[in-house]
Amino acid sequence: MNRIGFGTDIHRLEPGRPMVIGGIVIPSAFGPAGHSDGDVLLHAVTDALLGAVAAGDIGSHFPDTDERWRGADSTRFVLEALSLTRERGYRIANVDATIDLESPKLRPFIDAIRARVAELLAVDVDCVSVKAKTGEGLGPVGSGSAISATAAVLLERRS
Ligand code: MG
Repeated sequence: MNRIGFGTDIHRLEPGRPMVIGGIVIPSAFGPAGHSDGDVLLHAVTDALLGAVAAGDIGSHFPDTDERWRGADSTRFVLEALSLTRERGYRIANVDATIDLESPKLRPFIDAIRARVAELLAVDVDCVSVKAKTGEGLGPVGSGSAISATAAVLLERRS
């Protein structure tokens, strides 16, 4: 049996914060504010993994009221969600994600982000799609005040 999961995330952008996306630091004068490192892509993937096995959400597993997660490296959230899906007998078939960010342009960094996400999830890089869009000047992404991401994950039962 296959199971699908879907995740979304959004963070406010602030000057002087590191722009961490998919575990990669992108050169930028501003980055996501947040209790953790604010990595929207990894937060969306984490929620997609948890959602695929109906195991709650990132907020229930890693509450932002918990001092343990202050400034946390979000790779930890993904790895814990991944091990939960494995415990339940699933492996990742593929991941498809989109990052919404007005600037900087992510094209030069997409391959590195894909490779890092694939490494974290222990799957081939061709199982991981990462797309990038701008907000076309519209809404919180378009005005440069936010970064957001969406991710879909397909899990398949290990035989
Ligand atoms: Mg988040």
